[in-house]
Amino acid sequence: MSDNCLFCKIIKGDIPSTRIYESDRVIGFVDLHPQAKKHFLFVHKNHTSNINEMAYDGHSLVDVYQAIAEFTKKEQLDFSGFRVVTNQGKHSGQTVFHTHFHVLGGEHLGHFGS
Ligand code: 5GP
Ligand code: ZN
Repeated sequence: MSDNCLFCKIIKGDIPSTRIYESDRVIGFVDLHPQAKKHFLFVHKNHTSNINEMAYDGHSLVDVYQAIAEFTKKEQLDFSGFRVVTNQGKHSGQTVFHTHFHVLGGEHLGHFGS
């Protein structure tokens, strides 16, 4: 846990969120400013600041991807399709420095990069 971290506060329940997934290691919740019809954020309960830091944090990366797999199968988003995005650093526009995975779907998103 990191004292001044927004997503650690959401994990602790000090800041309200609409949770759509929870396990002992990972939570998923609705993004406050959705960029698609369905826009969720998945975070590990262990605080890391970005994806490169998380990559060396034990099995955290697998924990989050398994949570996303479980959730998207349950919601049948795997059938319609979805996108996972992680921003790291200034050029990406990262604004919250607790590693998070945007899961976007519920509509055609357009081809990334075109
Ligand atoms: P980033 O820009 O760092 O990749 O993504 C941060 C995301 O967190 C943004 O999509 C933003 O809308 C979302 N966000 C920021 N503050 C809150 C909050 O208090 N609650 C929720 N649910 N999402 C938030
Ligand atoms: Zn945190």
